[in-house]
Amino acid sequence: MPHWSSLIRDIPDFPKPGIVFKDITPVLADARGFADAIDAMAAPWRDAVPDAFIGIESRGFIFAAALAHALGTGFVPVRKPGKLPARTLAHDYALEYGSDRLEMHADALPPGARVVLVDDVLATGGTLRAALSLARQQGATVVGAAVLVELPELDGRARWDVDAPLHVALQG
Ligand code: 5GP
Repeated sequence: MPHWSSLIRDIPDFPKPGIVFKDITPVLADARGFADAIDAMAAPWRDAVPDAFIGIESRGFIFAAALAHALGTGFVPVRKPGKLPARTLAHDYALEYGSDRLEMHADALPPGARVVLVDDVLATGGTLRAALSLARQQGATVVGAAVLVELPELDGRARWDVDAPLHVALQG
């Protein structure tokens, strides 16, 4: 186990009763922990650096921006509705109760750009799947995904039915 994994803490009943939330903020607060976590997430992409890392709001921004800086690529945000100022493309997706929407600037990527999707935690996989659809709608080629922690019991990986690697730095 990487040393930074011990910095991730379980917060019971957040954001709702019955949910145990993985709080990754102590990893960010620890200089060595943050640097090593980014190194671990960056390693699979060093030999084939993508054109951009796409960060999913909000903790995905932190990791995607750091990866972009580490590997010398662009960073593109995928945001919740109404946050991006220019023209957007949207993707709606179902949640257990209700639905949600993610948006990306319509001109954020040139067609055929090779991109990696980034988030902090993979739970049911719905968010990553939505970001995948959005990037493809944009004409991008999704060459993979990078996640800090996977929660294997929620089997989000099963929804990554894509011929591109999903790399996780830690199984939670
Ligand atoms: P999914 O769509 O895979 O069910 O949920 C993943 C999304 O919800 C990610 O954007 C992630 O930030 C957030 N998320 C779900 N569960 C957790 C958790 O336990 N800890 C953290 N930090 N984020 C979570």
